[in-house]
Amino acid sequence: MAKNVSSTIAAAPIFQPEYETLERHALEALQGERLVALVERLREANALYRERLAGVQMPQSLADLPGLPFTRKTDLRDAYPLGMLAVGETSLARIHASSGTTGNPTIGAYTKRDLEIFAEVNARSLALGGIRPGEMFQVAWGYGLFTGGLGMHGGGEALGACVIPASSGNTARQLQLLETLPIAGIGATPSYALVIAERFRAEGRRPKALRYAICGAEAWTKEMRAELEDALGVVATNIYGLTEIIGPGVANECLHKTGLHVQDDHFLAEILDPETQTPLGDGERGELVITTLTREAMPVLRYRTGDLTRMWREPCACGRTTSRIDWLTGRVDDMLVIRGVNVFPTAIEEVLLGFAELSANYRIIVDRPSAGLDAMTIEVEHHAASAIDDRSALERRIARKLNDVLLISCELRVLVPGAIERIEAGKAKRVYDRRTVSG
Ligand SMILES: [Zn+2]
Repeated sequence: MAKNVSSTIAAAPIFQPEYETLERHALEALQGERLVALVERLREANALYRERLAGVQMPQSLADLPGLPFTRKTDLRDAYPLGMLAVGETSLARIHASSGTTGNPTIGAYTKRDLEIFAEVNARSLALGGIRPGEMFQVAWGYGLFTGGLGMHGGGEALGACVIPASSGNTARQLQLLETLPIAGIGATPSYALVIAERFRAEGRRPKALRYAICGAEAWTKEMRAELEDALGVVATNIYGLTEIIGPGVANECLHKTGLHVQDDHFLAEILDPETQTPLGDGERGELVITTLTREAMPVLRYRTGDLTRMWREPCACGRTTSRIDWLTGRVDDMLVIRGVNVFPTAIEEVLLGFAELSANYRIIVDRPSAGLDAMTIEVEHHAASAIDDRSALERRIARKLNDVLLISCELRVLVPGAIERIEAGKAKRVYDRRTVSG
């Protein structure tokens, strides 16, 4: 069901070419001006930053960025609920919060202007992902405190699309809408988009007009993208964002799929060596650090995202001049340390989806049995269509490949389709780390 991408590229107009195609030097001059203004504002309007910026040389341009202090997730947690504000509470127009599993959630606060920017950057994302004004776009991210649903919703409206606020869950209704309405695009977590695709396939039905999927809010891989594109018959692009910065819309791939375009005029991205904190050059992998240049309510200076990626600044074939980041390996927080070896769940996903027999439904179980050594078990479903003649031979082949890539051994089980529970709302749960749970 692969689509002809080249025929669709010309047809998706750039939403704000005055920023997205600005000459690189002009873009960087704008970033510099905004950075200087931001630091001045933070020093005046926020107690945490006033303290942190005391004695720091005030920046004159973008070149002075490396001398400025960092902001960490713990700063935001410690400042719960409103200690990161740079405006009075009465100026707020909305509050979102991230799904914190432990401790305080992370608050994202917005003024009216912040919400306009939130909508604009998400409109850019939709356009990047192929959606045109006048087309229908189904939002299958959750609505609520989570930024995904409302973020994309505002983006769709700002673009001039017709937004269908399906929210996540109720897959039967998602299918009905997609089957009966001429919906051009859907936004969802990649795992939920795959649930929808599987259901269509299982019921022998198909969407009426769907061509594009914009997926994100959980770590995934290009292998999973290929799986999803095939299953749903769409071109899928990767969207990146986080509550601490604004929500979705920080960056999105264009249809050329050569990295995620960062909305540079609003979000200043750097790649740092995670150990030494020194800036890395284009193409070098390190930690993504973001400064919000235009946020009013809750600006952050050099926020350590914990996400590992690379960055490029040369113009893209799509005509945009904004910098691009590579697919994210996952957060440093998501990394499992198993018998002293660092393992990213995305690396496991890459290996699994290299086997044509396997589907993208998998889970990773880490345990510490009484003997003391960590044990990792990976369970993955095979495709409904692929007949498995010798299951144990296949399991051995996959386990050997995983061992080669991850440098640790694991137990591998191939399960029948449907054996692993599907998550219909929120993010897929891939990792079950039972080492910290007693009993
Ligand atoms: Zn591009």
